[in-house]
Amino acid sequence: MPSREEMLKAAVQAVAATCAVARRVQLATGSMQRMTKEDYSPVTVADFAVQALVALHLQEALGTLVLVGEETAADLHEPRSHGLRDAVVAAVREIRPGLSTSQVMEAIDLGNHDASGTAYWTLDPVDGTKGFLRGGQYAISLGYIEDGEVVLGALGCPNLGADFARPFDQPAPRGSLFYAQRGHGAFSLPDDAPAAAPTAIRVAATAELSTLRICESVEAGHSRIDDTQRIVDRLGIRGTPARLDSQCKYAVVARGQADAYLRLPTRADYQEKIWDHAAGALIAAEAGARVSDIEGKPLDFSQGETLRRNRGVVCAAAHFHPPLLEAIAALLP
Ligand code: AMP
Ligand code: MG
Repeated sequence: MPSREEMLKAAVQAVAATCAVARRVQLATGSMQRMTKEDYSPVTVADFAVQALVALHLQEALGTLVLVGEETAADLHEPRSHGLRDAVVAAVREIRPGLSTSQVMEAIDLGNHDASGTAYWTLDPVDGTKGFLRGGQYAISLGYIEDGEVVLGALGCPNLGADFARPFDQPAPRGSLFYAQRGHGAFSLPDDAPAAAPTAIRVAATAELSTLRICESVEAGHSRIDDTQRIVDRLGIRGTPARLDSQCKYAVVARGQADAYLRLPTRADYQEKIWDHAAGALIAAEAGARVSDIEGKPLDFSQGETLRRNRGVVCAAAHFHPPLLEAIAALLP
């Protein structure tokens, strides 16, 4: 059985290797073929290619692999999807030249575990697909869950550079990779240099509620933007919330670039997926943030593929977490 440190190293290397592939696919708009999944979210070449590459990397580095990935190759087998399938295989072969089409499909399906059992990896190969498609922020998110707790997280943010002043909708020339092991702090690296000396990251220590910097989704269908505004107004916060796609929001709070990430439910029946939160929530918590749902309950990763016992997310520097929860309790049903 590999140690936690070996597992974390493998996760960081797997994510770093695939950040470069995702970036190339994003730039090569010609190969950005889309299909529509049942839930109508756009799925791209990069989603499938990254899942295959991360799965292969982990399996080779660690020997065994139990992986709950967002994607499945089933949709690629349909004749109408063969153009997309071939583009996926070509993207994988950029760093794995010898693989056959069926080997690539099998690698994607290494991620078909259903989150039963007590220990598994979870992967969102391209979190923030809509950000990816519009040339904005997205993340490759890999977490390891044991006994219902996230214990390792690696988050590749290929368009999020080291410069805090750069607008989120302007992709940085060099991205960032964040990682954490429970109890050991959170760190960042350039996404193309997994062996570089890491920088420890920490939430900001700002004391004034009026200057609180909030971030939230770009997509109004994923988080209630009007509810965020009501919270901003109630608390007398002066700035305008920053909007960016993906778990980059957790990283932005973790490194002190924003003070809070709010994800306010748009519908009563939506259950957040574990791969949309595992890595990001651990990294933010290890950087000193408090992460809970909108009622203040810890995110419960013991319930299979979804956070079905939670509603929404509030991730904030510890001193800002209580006033945000109070405002939410006062304003939201
Ligand atoms: P973000 O980039 O933060 O807006 O979040 C992207 C993620 O939102 C996707 O990976 C989806 O799994 C997830 N998502 C889809 N529908 C909803 C919804 N109604 N509420 C919250 N999240 C959603
Ligand atoms: Mg996602």
